[in-house]
Amino acid sequence: MDAITGLGLREQAFIDGKWVNADNGATFAVDNPATGAILGRVPDMGAAEARRAVESCARALPDWRDRPAKERAQIMRRWFELIMEDQERLARIITAEMGKPLAEARGEIGYGAAFIDWFAEEGRRIYGDVIPGPTDRRLLVLKQAIGVTAAITPWNFPSAMFARKVGAALGAGCAMVVKPAELTPFSALALVELAERAGVPAGVVNVVTARDPAPVGLEFTHNPLVRKLTFTGSTEVGKILLRQAAENVQKCSMELGGNAPLIVFDDADLDAAVRGALASKYRNAGQTCVSANRFLVQAGVAGAFAEKLAAAAGALKVGEGTQEGVAIGPLIEPAAVEKVERHIADALAHGAKLLTGGARHALGGTFFEPTVLANVPPDALIFSEETFGPVAPVIPFETEADAVRLANATPYGLAAYFYSRDIARVFRVAERLEFGMVGVNETLISTEIAPFGGVKQSGLGREGSRYGVDDYVEIKYVCLGGI
Ligand code: NAD
Repeated sequence: MDAITGLGLREQAFIDGKWVNADNGATFAVDNPATGAILGRVPDMGAAEARRAVESCARALPDWRDRPAKERAQIMRRWFELIMEDQERLARIITAEMGKPLAEARGEIGYGAAFIDWFAEEGRRIYGDVIPGPTDRRLLVLKQAIGVTAAITPWNFPSAMFARKVGAALGAGCAMVVKPAELTPFSALALVELAERAGVPAGVVNVVTARDPAPVGLEFTHNPLVRKLTFTGSTEVGKILLRQAAENVQKCSMELGGNAPLIVFDDADLDAAVRGALASKYRNAGQTCVSANRFLVQAGVAGAFAEKLAAAAGALKVGEGTQEGVAIGPLIEPAAVEKVERHIADALAHGAKLLTGGARHALGGTFFEPTVLANVPPDALIFSEETFGPVAPVIPFETEADAVRLANATPYGLAAYFYSRDIARVFRVAERLEFGMVGVNETLISTEIAPFGGVKQSGLGREGSRYGVDDYVEIKYVCLGGI
């Protein structure tokens, strides 16, 4: 156990089945955003270590890929069980390094582990096809593991994003090297330690830590051994990586930023809509890619909705994630607070009305009050940019067509939500929203059994569900002649 936190934090990276330091011995500190206290230090690695990790994956790949899927599944199932047995400590690591309330962190561990369990089983069902063709030949379609894969993960779900990617890769028979976010590397290191204990062979999963992500990203995209890159993070960085990956025509999955609308029609159950809005907006202090960012509410109910939401949001307890009853932890870093302040000031300058919150919390640091703004016009900054904070702007609209037009008026297309009790409208609107995921009368929609991913500038590919396997297999056509 590490002396400071008692969380058993691993302060080395994991390459080729060994815990290792950076070649030059450099490290960087990781702190607790709730207190500013340093939790520990991890190796500050670069391209050379990333290359060794990729080569380790390449060596481990043939054995892992060629094992019966059932054998891979048994090891992954053991990994899943070890994670669930250790759920409390793993959740505390998330809360310590990124700040979310402990109850949410426990949920994240269960959510992430579920992907490992799911893909362990899905890996056993990667079927090919036989295509009916001319009688003198047989047309076969094989689905084969892509090979060595690389992942770059964000800080906001430091455990689940690791599990979601590694689970899919391993289930399909791929090996993977992961670079976790520099703000939150300990969750990934804790999970890979359990993977090793579960019997995942050396080199099948490697974790490289770095303060500066760029050299590692360049190695991942330029090394010809890496056949696929999977990234979760901002659209801005996703575009950089896509440009780099073009060099080798590397396959990419991209889970990028969102700007989710939550539409409330005047036929909706208003209380259910408020509950859904609360869960979607203030979970993880709004630092979730699928968080509702714009609340489009039909004019007749906009006032009532905003009042109810403000009353509920104003009652949420802000504080350190380890404290009982806390619903909103700190924001990840000072820059995040500045962005929230900028969005609120801009909305107010555009004529919005502040109903609750609006300022830094009395606790100081990066704590921020849950905020609701009414009468926000669509030309406010908060309409077009992802806030990533606990701010709910209520934007009134008149007709269904207006709502759909406003909802789609963004380059992003990750998640959208709407509340309505009109069955015809439910189908119409769900089909017209240009988003990869739509929640109808529900905002907590993410699960390992359904496809997660975006359209437009929110990304490429899907994670979870049977569709998630497709991102980790290549299709090979075999034509058998002379029959
Ligand atoms: P970010 O893009 O700044 O960082 C994400 C990761 O990319 C980190 O590991 C970081 O070290 C790395 N990175 C940054 N610059 C890089 C470079 N030049 N080369 C290689 N790697 C680089 O994003 P963030 O601030 O960590 O996360 C927040 C963003 O992620 C939000 O936009 C959010 O919507 C998005 N997100 C999306 C999903 C999704 O599934 N669509 C899930 C969670 C978060």
